[in-house]
Amino acid sequence: MSNKHISTDCIHAGEDRFKPHDSITTPIIQSSTYVFKNSEDIRKYTQKEHFRYEYGRYGNPTQRAAEKKLAKLEGAESAVLFASGMSAIINTLLALLKAGDHMIITDDAYGRTLSFVKLWLPRWGMEYDIVKMGDYQAIEDAIKPNTKLFFSESPTNPYLNIMDFSRLREIRKKNPQMLVVSDSTFATPYNQRPLELGADIVIHSATKYLAGHNDILAGVVLGNDSLVQVIVEFQKIMGGVIDPHCAYLLIRGLKTFSVRMAHLNAAGEKVARWLEAHPRIKRTYYPSLESHPHQDVAKREMSGFGAVVTFELDGDLADSSRFLDRLKLCYIGPSLGGCETLITHPATVTYYNCTREERYELGILDNLFRLSVGLEDPDDIIADLEQAMEF
Ligand code: PLP
Repeated sequence: MSNKHISTDCIHAGEDRFKPHDSITTPIIQSSTYVFKNSEDIRKYTQKEHFRYEYGRYGNPTQRAAEKKLAKLEGAESAVLFASGMSAIINTLLALLKAGDHMIITDDAYGRTLSFVKLWLPRWGMEYDIVKMGDYQAIEDAIKPNTKLFFSESPTNPYLNIMDFSRLREIRKKNPQMLVVSDSTFATPYNQRPLELGADIVIHSATKYLAGHNDILAGVVLGNDSLVQVIVEFQKIMGGVIDPHCAYLLIRGLKTFSVRMAHLNAAGEKVARWLEAHPRIKRTYYPSLESHPHQDVAKREMSGFGAVVTFELDGDLADSSRFLDRLKLCYIGPSLGGCETLITHPATVTYYNCTREERYELGILDNLFRLSVGLEDPDDIIADLEQAMEF
């Protein structure tokens, strides 16, 4: 994988060189409908003699420019944008599966994705199996004649487990009917391109690194034309399209994507190594650390490791609250990949209604934190973490 021209693609890919009114930026076409000049115009459109827009749910020029830019960055033939990452995931699963089909998903996928698979898919007659991330034999064992799709993420949340795509390719070879769908939100096309590694479809919560400013929700599905077209047709019915203004903000965010990612990869690594060496930290998870269980796969299959660092403070639940309350620069809140450093304490936020036993079963310890390093000076982030631990 090469990032040789990625900065140029971030700026120029997908956008017309000359735009309406000689504007240098792609305009926000804030329109829900597109009018026909006359009946000849209708005829040409319906006979596909020329391409044009018709209705907002079927596509918008600002959305289209953002999709083309994302497709170029991911090395995909096609892309389709949604109003959120979850909308992208659900539309993909529902468009590609039918009653009687079976899918496999890894156990540390995003919680809401797992909830959708567990609580909703069976209502429409679809079956699923959940396998442990990293257990490739379990994937093989779970495959049935009606298995149509394998879904996983890499890196995963919060332990940053890494999918070994070379193992997955072997499994896929023996089971060509099984589509491989990869949620690559934590990797981004700057650090990994799963389509080059054998995935059929890549999904991102573009809310995160791609948009990069903690100011919009968006999701994208990428793959070859024929697969993406199935999802586009489904979106025309289901909706969940990205708003043109959001699409503009995504384009704007993508202009600096490569610059942000270069900074974030370096800052993430710096903060991770500092945390790992700190006496008040029991354990640090970051894919390039020698202590990470998938370091070898990460180094083989990724070109950078992002800005999410997970760590265990040496202390109990009360110490975790003390640490959080002392932070002055890092914001306490969900999400990742934006300009502002964000920290989450899964035990008291995402898993607040679980018992301690239930949480520990899922690996959500009282002292576990997920840090999304932002674009501030990493030394200032480190200083904030350091002073917050002084109690
Ligand atoms: N996939 C992953 C890996 C996520 O972390 C998230 C959200 O946190 C989503 C999907 C859902 O994306 P969105 O919040 O844009 O709907």
